[in-house]
Amino acid sequence: MGKPTGFLEYKREMPAYKPVAERIKDYKEFYRPFSKINVEKQAARCMDCGIPFCHNGCPLGNNIPDFNDQVYKEDWKAAYDILISTNNFPEFTGRICPAPCEQSCVLNINQVPTTIELIEKNIIERAYAEGWVKPDVPVKRSGKKVAVVGGGPAGLAAAAQLNSAGHSVTVFERDDRVGGLLRYGIPDFKLDKSVIDRRMQVMEKSGITFKVNANVGENIAVADIEKEYDAIVLTGGSTIPRGLPVPGSDLKGIYFAMEFLKQSNKRVAGDKIAKNEEIYVKDANVVVIGGGDTGSDCVGTSNRHGAKSITQLELLPKPPEGTNPVTPWPQWPNILRTSSSHLEGCERVWSILTKEYIGDGKGNLKAIKVVDIEWEGREFKEVAGSERELPCEYVFLAMGFLHPQHKGMIEQLGLELDNRGNVQTTKYKTSKDGVFAAGDMRRGQSLVVHAINEGREAAREVDIYLTGSSVLETKDHSLNSII
Ligand SMILES: Cc1cc2nc3c(=O)[nH]c(=O)nc-3n(C[C@H](O)[C@H](O)[C@H](O)COP(=O)(O)OP(=O)(O)OC[C@H]3O[C@@H](n4cnc5c(N)ncnc54)[C@H](O)[C@@H]3O)c2cc1C
Ligand code: SF4
Repeated sequence: MGKPTGFLEYKREMPAYKPVAERIKDYKEFYRPFSKINVEKQAARCMDCGIPFCHNGCPLGNNIPDFNDQVYKEDWKAAYDILISTNNFPEFTGRICPAPCEQSCVLNINQVPTTIELIEKNIIERAYAEGWVKPDVPVKRSGKKVAVVGGGPAGLAAAAQLNSAGHSVTVFERDDRVGGLLRYGIPDFKLDKSVIDRRMQVMEKSGITFKVNANVGENIAVADIEKEYDAIVLTGGSTIPRGLPVPGSDLKGIYFAMEFLKQSNKRVAGDKIAKNEEIYVKDANVVVIGGGDTGSDCVGTSNRHGAKSITQLELLPKPPEGTNPVTPWPQWPNILRTSSSHLEGCERVWSILTKEYIGDGKGNLKAIKVVDIEWEGREFKEVAGSERELPCEYVFLAMGFLHPQHKGMIEQLGLELDNRGNVQTTKYKTSKDGVFAAGDMRRGQSLVVHAINEGREAAREVDIYLTGSSVLETKDHSLNSII
């Protein structure tokens, strides 16, 4: 807890954003600085609630009241030690976690919650600035070798944990840079890529080897990995996107969101994009199909390209604003969410169905045909007479991901899949001895905080598999857990 009366004395405050006109000129993060003293006041709002529901709200089980208390008492080093004991990468979650912890904060019953995510980000940024973030070199090596396939947050967390347990870890990443969706999905304005590079340097100095352009099942043979390593952790993500196969799908201008976002992040990183592969939407009319976070990232990126108009479509009805009795506290509420990207300019439409892509006669997209729908329970029907065309030269499909890629590594390993097409596991063990799986590849598309948690939990199971026991802590196996 912070100060018992802090929540009565101080209002919830967050750093201001740069004005829209200024921030859409580049891809930089756009929070204004927030002083140390202001963060300490925000930490003081954490009250002595008795049962901190935020613990359960956080998939990592972060000891939130404890680090808030230390920040309030100005002992930031102690706060850092508490935070890093449950979360390998607070610099990622402190920027892009949707913060389910804040929804379950006891203050959120009849007030506004503690700014947990902001405090988390400030603790880790201060830790880097003060030189407290040091390589985690194990005192003794176990002699066991582990291959982690996939360099997203799940793979990175598994690698960090297994290395700290003394195993020699190599991360194989098929892209040219490590980070998974942190690197090539989430735009720079939400997570600056120098934040990933900074963590990679610490991990390399800790003794972890990274191999990029290493596609296991393609240019790296599965059999070679199996032969060379004592255990394998698969963290390849959920990469097969959901399509919308209506008439006209072969027209030029229709892309999956990840094709657009990945290319944009590469351009921001300074990579050259071949002219005939450019997806650049300056002065174009853009329609984003899918109302979630990935769609919102397409909106923010399109605004930075200088799109003429941006419309985001969602099949489901508009959720209620503020609160929803169907998802009361401390649950994650199903309510309308307006992201900073939406505030930068876009029209949002709910309860709308896309029926057809319409071409200009030369193979290019010129519009989509849509119709309003009415929901009755889980069924919907089209609203008669509402069919119309929305002019657009680009459509980005952001309707989620089905499952991991089966072709290649998963097929070659002969792994069993669950009924959604994800890798089937029991305690993170796949159907093949010595092969484990974690993150979106195992649980389906999710969140960074879940991926980190899965990486930590899988690492513990691998450690037990290799040595018979483990001191690696997770949310469910925590030495200092208070609940
Ligand atoms: C556009 C977008 C925005 C998002 N925004 C947020 C957000 O703001 N907050 C949030 O919490 N979550 C967000 N998410 C979800 C979050 O990014 C994912 O849940 C998380 O990254 C999953 O982590 P992972 O490590 O399991 O997989 P990934 O991050 O997908 O990483 C998997 C890695 O494995 C590599 N790989 C796959 N197969 C192989 C192979 N055979 N050999 C070698 N490497 C391989 C891939 O190249 C990739 O780098 C977003 C997702 C998307 C698509
Ligand atoms: S990781 Fe996410 S849920 Fe956990 S404390 Fe941080 S912001 Fe909250």
